[in-house]
Amino acid sequence: MSGLIPLERALNAILPGVLEAQLSDFDTVSEQISVDTGQSRDAVAQLVYETIAQVNDKLFPPLTQLEMVYTEGCNLACAYCFEKDMLGHRRMPLEIARKAIDLLMRYSRDADELHIAHFGGEPLVNFPAVRFTTEYAEDRAAKYGKSVSFNMTTNGTLITDEVAAYCAEHRIMAMVSLDGLQESNDRYRIDKRGRGTFERAFAGLKTLMRHQEWIGVKITVMPETCDSLVHDIQHLYDSGVNQFTIGYATGIPWSHDERSAYVRNMERLHAWYILHREGPLLITEFEEEDIGHSYFGCQAGRSSVSISVDGEISPCSKVLAMDKKNLLARLGDVTHGVYQINNRIELVGCKQLKATCNKAGIANEYQGGCFATNYQANGSLFEPNLDDHDFTIRLRNSCLGCSSK
Ligand code: SF4
Repeated sequence: MSGLIPLERALNAILPGVLEAQLSDFDTVSEQISVDTGQSRDAVAQLVYETIAQVNDKLFPPLTQLEMVYTEGCNLACAYCFEKDMLGHRRMPLEIARKAIDLLMRYSRDADELHIAHFGGEPLVNFPAVRFTTEYAEDRAAKYGKSVSFNMTTNGTLITDEVAAYCAEHRIMAMVSLDGLQESNDRYRIDKRGRGTFERAFAGLKTLMRHQEWIGVKITVMPETCDSLVHDIQHLYDSGVNQFTIGYATGIPWSHDERSAYVRNMERLHAWYILHREGPLLITEFEEEDIGHSYFGCQAGRSSVSISVDGEISPCSKVLAMDKKNLLARLGDVTHGVYQINNRIELVGCKQLKATCNKAGIANEYQGGCFATNYQANGSLFEPNLDDHDFTIRLRNSCLGCSSK
């Protein structure tokens, strides 16, 4: 073994380069370390993975949430889908899912409450990967003394009794994307033949209702559907839906009057909600205090990351979908870990985002918004979307920002 250098010394010498490298360089560097040290490729790979994890331990908060993009495929073709550029036919292999869960366990450090979002495309197109990930995560969490919870964003059309029973058994909170009653929903939520999807999605909700108590719907509000929002939610509630997540559509223009209509209808909805919230009923947006958080940006890249079908690590699935060919703010991959440290520093520290908000004179009231909608508006993750800022301030100044929440 004379002439060989100790493994740790070799690693320290190349670490700065490794942390900025692309995967091709990574492989070359690992091969070189293996030759220099006489260690097997597996031993080098394990030590590289662990060293990178320790760099993350020192610099950043633990990762506690994963969004798993099991497939780029979807059986629908909703007009406003932000994943249109991403949608293809690839599915996540189980080996990638396993490595993603291993990464969550390692990068969560001593945090004991973990969360996994089953996502796509349409995650139920790849139900075997949903099952595998759920059970492997439960097993690993039990091993490390952690708890793990799950949700799933689905278009609802592929929910069968088998799926609903599985979700109930494993306490996977399924959120069905449904934009209201038939007329509102079928304007934009259509299949590949242009047909409305309300009836199929609602059948999925009914199937869920046979197996669990909490039935959630995710509503994207378009300018044309603002005025039917309250009516639609009241009817969905009467039909058995008792949890709503509501957001206005991003990436499309909203006129001054349309924004006013959105805020006005959210106020009307809030007034109704106050009378029914013990129903049981939960409208997520009305339970969150709009006090901002102590940092700029959001959880993307800070406490949460998204895993693509081929194991790339992105700050979040919406960011992942923005540019399929050139992954924005890529953080690494499940084999090597979160090694694109500079990108994580920018997402967590938000130096650029703070500077651009300052420049726009809004930094004291707005913490930069959503990276993905920033990109949709400006082609940059770190320049605030001024439309989103306007929505935020309008909602805050409406009765929704008052203390009677
Ligand atoms: S706010 Fe935007 S960037 Fe942040 S996690 Fe949500 S979708 Fe992703």
